[in-house]
Amino acid sequence: MGILSVELSGQLLARFGDRFSISKALREQHGRGESHHTPAIPDAVVFAQSTDDVAEAVRLCAAAGVPVIAFGAGTSLEGHLSAVRGGVSIDLSQMSQIIRVSAEDLDCTVQAGVTREQLNAHLRDQGVFFPIDPGANASIGGMAATRASGTNAVRYGTMRENVLSLTVVLPTGQVIRTGGRARKSSAGYDLTRLFVGSEGTLGIITDVTLRLQGVPETISAALCSFESVEQAVGAAIAIVQLAIPIARMELMDRA
Ligand SMILES: Cc1cc2nc3c(=O)[nH]c(=O)nc-3n(C[C@H](O)[C@H](O)[C@H](O)COP(=O)(O)OP(=O)(O)OC[C@H]3O[C@@H](n4cnc5c(N)ncnc54)[C@H](O)[C@@H]3O)c2cc1C
Repeated sequence: MGILSVELSGQLLARFGDRFSISKALREQHGRGESHHTPAIPDAVVFAQSTDDVAEAVRLCAAAGVPVIAFGAGTSLEGHLSAVRGGVSIDLSQMSQIIRVSAEDLDCTVQAGVTREQLNAHLRDQGVFFPIDPGANASIGGMAATRASGTNAVRYGTMRENVLSLTVVLPTGQVIRTGGRARKSSAGYDLTRLFVGSEGTLGIITDVTLRLQGVPETISAALCSFESVEQAVGAAIAIVQLAIPIARMELMDRA
């Protein structure tokens, strides 16, 4: 069982029951993302359903000096999920509750395991949507942790511009809330921006308050051909400089 002591396994089993697993198949699934990096499998997997679950798993592992790795949807392309020193993978996929949507305030709060497709399906009849689209159906917690972007970034920015506040479990197991729903605040350190992009190293995000966008009344798409990459880049720069409200621009080759 690697670095997991009998005592820690017993404590995790007592707290999480069948949401604690040392099954090889599950551990293998949690030791890799979707990249070519060599997988390194954790010693156990815990499925969290609440902030308290995450805090308790982190507290127990911290007391035993065992590493923890947050697992969202496993779509990372950078080898983030390799358990290079073993430890416990804390899977947040069962934290999939949409806690609150305020379409008129253009924001919502979701548990970290909610995926972006799940959120947009929930929002579809409310005139608003969540614009960050990294291609994969990633979790909102994982997207905040990796400061995800996507083809809409030219208009809507990345997770950095779209996360308003977070609930985070620190490495000690302490729970903090960063930021608030107000668009503007200069009170205290900007901890939200510190955790966005911290790749699971500073804490585990358990819920996220997100900015939403109105669905445009009309959308059109076009394909333009250029003789050279320089011309294509020049056109992209001119479009942005002329403040044309473009949502996506992608550069493609002939193939
Ligand atoms: C086909 C494809 C296209 C992609 N295109 C893009 C793209 O255009 N732009 C882009 O940015 N990314 C892209 N990605 C990468 C990927 O989708 C992002 O990295 C995504 O944000 C990861 O989210 P996840 O839920 O899958 O996280 P995971 O892969 O599960 O985890 C990624 C990292 O975040 C940490 N983490 C996960 N959840 C939490 C949490 N709740 N709290 C703290 N840390 C956490 C993990 O420990 C790990 O370090 C693409 C991936 C695929 C497969």
